[in-house]
Amino acid sequence: MKIVAYIYSDPLLPSAPTENIWGLEVDKVYQDLGKHQQLEQLITDCKTDQADQPDYLLVRRLEELGDNVKIISDRLNQLESLGIKIITTEQDYSSPQWNQFNPQKLKFNLSNLLQEVQTNKKRTRLEQGHARNRLKILPPPGKAPYGYRRGQDRYIIDKSTAPVVKDFFERFLLFGSLRGAVRYLENRYGKKISPNTGRNWLSNPVYRGSLKYKNNEIISHTHTPILNAEEAAQIDRLLRRNSRLPRRTASAPRSLAGLVICQQCQLTMNITKVTQHKKKTEYLYLRCHKCPQSPKCRAIAYSEILNQTIEKICLELPLAVNQLELPNNTAIENKLRQEIKQKEIIINQLPILLTQAVLDQETVDLRNYKLRGEIAQLENKIAQLPPGNLQAIAQAVSLPQFWLDLSEAERRFYFREFIKQIEIVRNISQSWSLKLNFIF
Ligand SMILES: [Zn+2]
Repeated sequence: MKIVAYIYSDPLLPSAPTENIWGLEVDKVYQDLGKHQQLEQLITDCKTDQADQPDYLLVRRLEELGDNVKIISDRLNQLESLGIKIITTEQDYSSPQWNQFNPQKLKFNLSNLLQEVQTNKKRTRLEQGHARNRLKILPPPGKAPYGYRRGQDRYIIDKSTAPVVKDFFERFLLFGSLRGAVRYLENRYGKKISPNTGRNWLSNPVYRGSLKYKNNEIISHTHTPILNAEEAAQIDRLLRRNSRLPRRTASAPRSLAGLVICQQCQLTMNITKVTQHKKKTEYLYLRCHKCPQSPKCRAIAYSEILNQTIEKICLELPLAVNQLELPNNTAIENKLRQEIKQKEIIINQLPILLTQAVLDQETVDLRNYKLRGEIAQLENKIAQLPPGNLQAIAQAVSLPQFWLDLSEAERRFYFREFIKQIEIVRNISQSWSLKLNFIF
């Protein structure tokens, strides 16, 4: 018994693995990419050497036999009239055995199946269209993201809405609070968005001048960005840091909110406000919320912890940074930039290879698209490198005056650049000390 298989795949669409998909030993596999030459060859082979023709032909789906239903039916007929039984592995079709031949039933089954084939073909054509646009690096289908409008072949900055998006980003960069920036947008511009939309804006490659396609591939430098590379890297750092903080404290107004933990009971210490009877002055305390100790851990004045934190960060931050074995970022970055340059050289050669007819237009588009995707990945790696001037920054922020001059909001921003957690270590006789855990 001879079994052959046929596989057709579209060069524009992601193709499934083709090895070992049949589940049984196959004598020969005919394979086509984009055209049906090998299928025609298979039919010719069968006609010319009927003695050696296969008993069975395996295909995944009937769609693979042709570009439209008419061609598919014709080829199906040709093969079956030669006595070859066709079995589909992903559809419910198999050629009738001659002894159980029932034309009525078969016709019904086949016409149902051909209808399904037609629907699938339509979807494939749509996907092919999208894939072709992707290779031409055109924006994906649908409305342009807020802040842009669709131009002929790229997104164009929308002069009326882009400043709103820009202001949203600046607000987030200043205060590090997503909800705060969302609220600000509504108060200032009457533009209502959900925190989810806001989060999406913050990480959406579109605002960084890149296109992201449905297959998750990113191509950079496709249109004018609203965020520059430094701002984007800073936003990524803020988002990562906020995700480590307890909920609701990322945007709390106090610089120590969510950062202080009681070493004894391992609980985050909350800020409580105390106003004395008939007096305007208010006092802030940090205390272990739901403290399990007995007697309960003593509350500590907020200002005392703040002052000690400043004192300690000025003392310990330069030491901690000096001890860091910072990877040689410049060397890494240079290497990545070199790789980008090499890929750009290849991209520049593509038009020449096209005019020399070494490559065709489709191959050029595909290669160009892939190379630009790889460049976008390399650029992303560069953006994720830690800031190279950490030592210089540590020196600058190690003066108490620097911290005392800041507002609480600014102080919160800077604390969180360096500090992961502040532990309150309680000693006997009600005294306490601080332990700073840096994020590096
Ligand atoms: Zn405690």
